[in-house]
Amino acid sequence: MATTHAPTCAHAPCNCSVAAPGEFCGEYCRSVAESGVIESACACGHLACAQLRKVQRETAPKASGHKSRHH
Ligand SMILES: [Zn+2]
Ligand SMILES: [Zn+2]
Repeated sequence: MATTHAPTCAHAPCNCSVAAPGEFCGEYCRSVAESGVIESACACGHLACAQLRKVQRETAPKASGHKSRHH
């Protein structure tokens, strides 16, 4: 099997890839996970998570221009 599917960070909402399952991408995720806090979005600041946050922000205001069309 030639599939190199990198495991993601053990911090649940984090999208960063790590070297092995159960690892954290950085000190931020390690400390959050160890403190038992459940976050809805990762704020570790790495590229994978920063892009996700940006996409969510950009799609939110666009959806509101969809309502007054079908009447
Ligand atoms: Zn992250
Ligand atoms: Zn992480």
